[in-house]
Amino acid sequence: MKFNREKFILWGLLIGMVLGGVVGIYAGDAAASFGFLGTLFLNALKLIIVPLIVASMISGVTSLGDVRKLGKLGATAVVYYLVTTAIAVTIGIIVVNIIQPGVGGAIDSTALAPEAAEYSILDVILGMFPPNIIDAAARTDVMPLIVFSLVFGAVLTTLGKRAAPVIHLFDVVNEVILKIVGYIMLFAPFGVFGLIAGKLGDVGWDAFQVELLKTAEYSVTVLAGLALHGVIALPLLLYFLARRVPLRYLGNTAEAIVTAFSTASSSATLPVTMEAVEKNARISNKVGGFVLPLGATINMDGTALYEAVAAIFIAQLYGVDLTIGTQVVIFLTAILASVGAAGIPQAGLVTMVMVLNAAGLPTEGIGSILAVDWFLDRFRTATNVWGDVIACAVIEKRLGAEALDALPSAIAANPPE
Ligand code: ASP
Repeated sequence: MKFNREKFILWGLLIGMVLGGVVGIYAGDAAASFGFLGTLFLNALKLIIVPLIVASMISGVTSLGDVRKLGKLGATAVVYYLVTTAIAVTIGIIVVNIIQPGVGGAIDSTALAPEAAEYSILDVILGMFPPNIIDAAARTDVMPLIVFSLVFGAVLTTLGKRAAPVIHLFDVVNEVILKIVGYIMLFAPFGVFGLIAGKLGDVGWDAFQVELLKTAEYSVTVLAGLALHGVIALPLLLYFLARRVPLRYLGNTAEAIVTAFSTASSSATLPVTMEAVEKNARISNKVGGFVLPLGATINMDGTALYEAVAAIFIAQLYGVDLTIGTQVVIFLTAILASVGAAGIPQAGLVTMVMVLNAAGLPTEGIGSILAVDWFLDRFRTATNVWGDVIACAVIEKRLGAEALDALPSAIAANPPE
């Protein structure tokens, strides 16, 4: 029988969760000694984050080609992506602040939570340009790394032929890192087991029940946010900016949404998305061929929304009071984390580390959302792809027929991983 990676992770997570629960409840104190498996998993996620961000940002930017020649199509796409992602994050932040799924969590904040970092808007801007980039990397301070990588990548694209080997290098490094992330995810079932058994061993069943309930509330919050974005915000944009009937458009592109849901990967869904958009929804291949490959890697509304909800949920769970400044940091890093996340299953979980780091929140909090992540991943991936297909209609309409005719037919961003 062939090894089915996706099934292994899915079943592994479920079994790890249940076994972790059983061991945690019945082995009592001894269960705490399994906690190292969870720590190992979290450390693996943390150590990959710096190379992941640098490589994926640089290879992402360079895949656009000479940034000076991006033209109207590129500019419209990037602006539209950022605006819709910002809308998604805003919805997420509002929903999580209203529902407050993590408030009243069982976690002893004095024992675990560090002080949440306090930020003013000015600090946020200054924080993007620290005096020492190596020092920033050493502290896993990701914002400056993102800014640096974006600039580095953009400048690379303007150097012509000479830059080709360097661009190639970062493409390959990116591929390697993504492979390593894949291996780390294979360890996730053991990580979940360790995190749950360890946590149960530490805090006891009663306190853990409260946390389980919180995780369920958290899942409902993410789903509510995704529903608001996918069922109301995006269709409104589609209707008003592209003059398309949302239900009909959904019918035309349903294969892509369903594939996204079942694979939990925007990139794996890409061929289906392209076909649905160009054949069924009759979007020009000039637009689809550029907007979709790019969107599959950088336009992730669902992921961005989830990152913001998860970070604020973790803050609530640990009893950390979030200032407006910190919420702004979460807003910005959630957008960037979604841009940085690859279109593969659970990539958002990895870039989650950077949102938590930037906001000064405990990365251990990931343990509380890990168990349900595979499930939420499907919904956010479907939202991501729904965002991409709607982007095609809006961008085509906004460009207008004339600009469309003027486009060369072969502009296609390099298909992502
Ligand atoms: N699985 C998502 C996608 O491929 C990314 C994520 O949020 O993990 O779109």
